[in-house]
Amino acid sequence: MSQAEKRAGIMVLPSELQNQIAAGEVVERPASVLKELAENSLDAGADRVDAAIESGGQGLISVQDNGMGLSPEELPQALTRHATSKIRSVQDLMGLNSFGFRGEALPSIASVSRLRITSTPARGGEGSSLEVEFGAVSEPRPAAVREGTLVEVRDLFLNTPARLKFLKKQSTEAKKCQDVLQRLALVNRHCSFRLRSNRREVLDFERNQTLLQRLETLWPKQITASLLSVHREEKSASIHGYVGHPDTGQGRADRILFFVNKRPVQDKLLLSALKQAYSGRLLSREYPQAVLFLELPPSEVDVNVHPAKSEVRFREEKAVYSLLVNAVQNTLAQGDAQGAELKDRIPGTRHGDGNGDAERRKAGPGRLKLNEENKEPDTVFRESGEMYRQPDTSQGPPDTAISPRIPDSDSGASLGPDLAYLGQFRATYLILRSGDKLLFVDQHAAHERVLYTRYLKGAEAQQTQRLALPLRLRLHPSERTVLDGAVRNLREIGFAIHREDEENISVQGIPQYLDRSAAGEFLRDVLRQGGGGLEDMWCLMACRNSVKAGETLALSEAVELLRSWLECPERQHCPHGRPVSAQLGPKDLERMFKRGK
Ligand code: ADP
Ligand code: MG
Repeated sequence: MSQAEKRAGIMVLPSELQNQIAAGEVVERPASVLKELAENSLDAGADRVDAAIESGGQGLISVQDNGMGLSPEELPQALTRHATSKIRSVQDLMGLNSFGFRGEALPSIASVSRLRITSTPARGGEGSSLEVEFGAVSEPRPAAVREGTLVEVRDLFLNTPARLKFLKKQSTEAKKCQDVLQRLALVNRHCSFRLRSNRREVLDFERNQTLLQRLETLWPKQITASLLSVHREEKSASIHGYVGHPDTGQGRADRILFFVNKRPVQDKLLLSALKQAYSGRLLSREYPQAVLFLELPPSEVDVNVHPAKSEVRFREEKAVYSLLVNAVQNTLAQGDAQGAELKDRIPGTRHGDGNGDAERRKAGPGRLKLNEENKEPDTVFRESGEMYRQPDTSQGPPDTAISPRIPDSDSGASLGPDLAYLGQFRATYLILRSGDKLLFVDQHAAHERVLYTRYLKGAEAQQTQRLALPLRLRLHPSERTVLDGAVRNLREIGFAIHREDEENISVQGIPQYLDRSAAGEFLRDVLRQGGGGLEDMWCLMACRNSVKAGETLALSEAVELLRSWLECPERQHCPHGRPVSAQLGPKDLERMFKRGK
């Protein structure tokens, strides 16, 4: 056949073939079928979506909902290409808030599978069902389904062996199905979702849960417990959701979920904004967790880039980028302050074995230096919140916070004449007996005072540690002038900073007493605070390097900290001016117990 002969027969493709071609775009794998069906259920107003798959979706994909349903007359239309109940005009397309609108999904799926749709209209009327065998539509038949719509898809791709070959292992396809439904469940929280895979229940979300409740069923406790909430509005755009604490950074980017106007999207721009927001807080190979919802006017975002690939295009890329960066950085900055409190509430976040890198980071140069000789056997001093007990006074009930008998003298670790360390309370306060008084010392504030004093004295001359891999930071326009003003002091305390261009700096050396990630955070803080004098910087560095509330201290660590603190001038206040210690004397106790004479 010549070229000319081939060209001669231009014609509209038979609808079966049209559908199969469309299916190539819309229906990539079982998970895309499940996504289309569940989105149709949501579009139909359902608040119950029960899905099931068998053999990774190749055997069966079914979705049952309690939505508005379809009448016997509507069923054949639902399976006609470009038939949709969701838009009527190009204007509708611009202001779209349903998932579907192309009217392509059902006919496409039906062209590459055996599909049966059974439905009862909620407004009353007959239930009916319709079958399509690889594109060949049968007549609707009366059928009974209690409510809503049930769509069953069997033998997917059996008539297109080329596509069948591209499917992964059944377990992998099943996992993808689960991912798809999870993402839908995170946005549509009014709706219950269930998924069974080979009759085993793999997902079960109840109706009307919060985002956090849904995340708690998906992610480990040590991650959800320290999530930080994000919220920011700018002009017509907003962003909200949660991001992970930098301490829970992980090796894979599999807990990063973006949604734009409630649609799950995969987007490089958003991902790089997220990375930017965490720069200096995570190691280079670490990823944070994030579930972020962006809301933009529909005219600002094109969701029509690809029928199924969850790609979007933003009109104002720069604005979207900086909205995300600012929102997340703000949250992280607040998280620095909150973090201490949080960890106090959640045992295991700091001492858990979940994240080796984070643990190692914390053991960095910021920690107290230990005097090894002081080290007590570990059994003496255990979990946060438990008091240090002398062996001879430890017969009390195991859950009491304070040992039953604290003799007036010779108990605890001696710190001097008539001064003894009794133990740590709530992994935050160190309790001492000073003569006839009980003294409470805030471990973080005390450590800040110690380090600040040391830095000011210059006893530990600052040296620069060279970074093998420079730390790169991008500066916000407002930060550029701050940097100009602060750079002299930053160099004085040990930073080696080079300006790469207008926006970027590269940090090639950091103070000896900060580790890489702490140094990045430190710089960010300085820039955010608007620079400051040398003393402010020492103060900030003292804060960064101090033990935090929530850190369990070994006996030897506590004793060494207290000894150093006792030698400090102005030890009653931390460098920020917060009190370091408080006390209870016999009079206070008498008053408490109404023993007044
Ligand atoms: P689209 O969702 O783009 O409109 P589909 O091919 O997915 O196209 O669906 C075609 C039509 O079938 C929808 O517009 C809707 O009217 C109807 N439909 C599909 N699934 C359901 C369902 N679960 N409940 C009610 N109506 C449905
Ligand atoms: Mg649809």
